[in-house]
Amino acid sequence: MTTIYLDNNATTRTAPEVLEAMTPYLTELYGNPSSMHTFGGQVHKKIEDARGQVAALINAEPEEILFTSCGTESDNTALMSAVETYPLKKHLITTRVEHPAVLNLCHHLGRKGFRTTYLPVNALGQLDPAALDNAVDDDTAIVSIMFANNETGVIFPVETIAHRLQEQGILFHTDAVQAAGKIPLDVKKTPVNMLTLSGHKLHAPKGIGALYVRKGTRFHPYIIGGHQEHGRRAGTENAASIIGFGKAAELARTNHLEEITYLGRLRDRLEQGLLNSCPHTRVNGDIASRLPNTTNISFEYIEGEAILLRLNEYGICASSGSACTSGSLEPSHVLRAMGVPYTAVHGSIRFSLSRYNSEKDIDTVLEVMPNIIQELRELSPFGRDMQANSQVQAKE
Ligand code: PLP
Repeated sequence: MTTIYLDNNATTRTAPEVLEAMTPYLTELYGNPSSMHTFGGQVHKKIEDARGQVAALINAEPEEILFTSCGTESDNTALMSAVETYPLKKHLITTRVEHPAVLNLCHHLGRKGFRTTYLPVNALGQLDPAALDNAVDDDTAIVSIMFANNETGVIFPVETIAHRLQEQGILFHTDAVQAAGKIPLDVKKTPVNMLTLSGHKLHAPKGIGALYVRKGTRFHPYIIGGHQEHGRRAGTENAASIIGFGKAAELARTNHLEEITYLGRLRDRLEQGLLNSCPHTRVNGDIASRLPNTTNISFEYIEGEAILLRLNEYGICASSGSACTSGSLEPSHVLRAMGVPYTAVHGSIRFSLSRYNSEKDIDTVLEVMPNIIQELRELSPFGRDMQANSQVQAKE
């Protein structure tokens, strides 16, 4: 059975070009980039090239990029740097729909005496910049607001927010893990202080991330030890993965517009097809401001996990709002923050596409899904009531 992989916001396939770029640095070119000899020096040179490639993806300067082990580490580094460099400030601002990499750190800091404002979102998953204005005070150490949401794909007005916070002199970090490679990012136009990236969301391997730190931003390292990354992140560099990340960033940048158009077309066909063929479905999230590869659809009155298991029988990989980030069966905090009704939160499925998906993948999902939904609704007591009501209404 072939795999139809529609879970690209969870992780992506490593691009063959990326693997090819990495291979020499996993085999014969194993020198330590910090060594004095030429053997290590050539690895150092490739790491610096990768820094330039990652910087170019977001229009940053190479020296503003530091490599980390993942998006989570970059998020933690950004927030902890603010806490360390502004020791008298005890207020953090974020949103209710962030990734646990930010939310759980804020909860942790809450137990250490910090106060966090969690900004609400509306029914479309959108943020109101005015609510941020009201939340900022003299005690605010940092504002951390994601660029795009991992569950719904909703894009926040980060450029507007960045300008407002810059005027007020408030430190601003954005988690751009899901946005990078899917929409254009430009830190010259969007004056954030720090920005998080993760390699495995854009066809580099797992276990490599980056943090952009704008020149002039006060910074404190999170991992302390050797002098690597100009003293900003200790630990011998994950050279092969950094080099792979550089290649992935270059691929994302050079294929950008075609890829955005392609993904958007496939996603829209999938979404429209499912809405047309499966009754009692709804799209979660602001379709006017959304990543081109993501759709989050609620199939009301059924459990998302049951749908995933049935899709899995056909080799189709997607994820449900509940289990995708936490591995728990808690209903999605993102959909709950949007006020999505209980019966729809539980039946929500996220499909997230990549350049490796084809029209045929979409055809297969559209072929199998209506039956899966109908069968599961017949098994569900709520679903049976709902279908009976619909039939009565149709006759009336
Ligand atoms: N931030 C967002 C928005 C994410 O979607 C993810 C991963 O799902 C992360 C952070 C964490 O990235 P990583 O898996 O590289 O730690």
